Amino acid sequence: MEIIERVQAMYGWAESQRQAGRRIVLVPTMGFLHEGHLCLVRDGKQRGDRLVVSVFVNPTQFGPQEDFGSYPRDFMRDRDLLENERVDVLFHPSVEEIYPDGFQASIRMERLGAVLCAAQRPAHFPGVATVVAKLFNIVRPHTAIFGEKDYKQLLIIRRLVRDLNFPVEVVGHPIVREADGLAMSSRNAYLSVQERQAAQAVPRALRKAELLVQKGTLEAAPIVAAAKAEIEHEPLVSLDYVKVCDLETLEELDRIRDAALLALAVRIGKARLIDNTVLKR
Ligand code: AMP
Repeated sequence: MEIIERVQAMYGWAESQRQAGRRIVLVPTMGFLHEGHLCLVRDGKQRGDRLVVSVFVNPTQFGPQEDFGSYPRDFMRDRDLLENERVDVLFHPSVEEIYPDGFQASIRMERLGAVLCAAQRPAHFPGVATVVAKLFNIVRPHTAIFGEKDYKQLLIIRRLVRDLNFPVEVVGHPIVREADGLAMSSRNAYLSVQERQAAQAVPRALRKAELLVQKGTLEAAPIVAAAKAEIEHEPLVSLDYVKVCDLETLEELDRIRDAALLALAVRIGKARLIDNTVLKR
């Protein structure tokens, strides 16, 4: 596995692979890899000739009060895991390499930018869209893979690709969960033993909502109330939001027609966790 740290070197590598007619797949990550990331990596292996995984904790997607400084990092471990998966290139740029002096561009989404976490995290999605646009230009992938756990992120990237004509196929990968249903996340490392146990309320809330819909409830209010009750029953977990949203626009719905997204965000100790499920009638 080649480790590339410089943008110029990555340009050169991508150009030579394209010249040779090889298809490049990119899996962008912030590192501290877990089995969820590795499922995306294995998926990526099947979708092209060369696989690049980026590990970059992107400062511009963290708010001033958020956990950029303390976000978990373990580059050696990430490198070994990716080597083991026979990844071709680990792209690991420094912050200065991605944001040199004078950097000021930003990509903003009008409507998608304003839903779900936008009120609490105004800088987050412009930060994500901008860094992903940069990664697409630097790595020049034919295909890029993103997890459905970050559902809004996936929609924003699909929109980015369509609106700004990036010649990249965007693939969504289903949420990878622990045995007890908790979605895998680098931020799960923040949880104490008790908090980790309390976190089970999150998948329980999603299952409650799914069950209600299976039994014929289509109004959003009782679905949201049931999920909320499950979270509020757990004193260590505090709810940021739980919403039933349109699958494409993420606007809140009063009633499910065919399918909708149940999205939620909670705080448990130092961790802010998000999760979602698609509710189908
Ligand atoms: P992160 O390192 O958290 O920025 O995640 C990198 C990529 O992995 C993103 O596309 C995430 O959506 C995806 N990802 C993270 N956790 C999971 C999971 N549990 N299941 C599926 N995809 C995930």
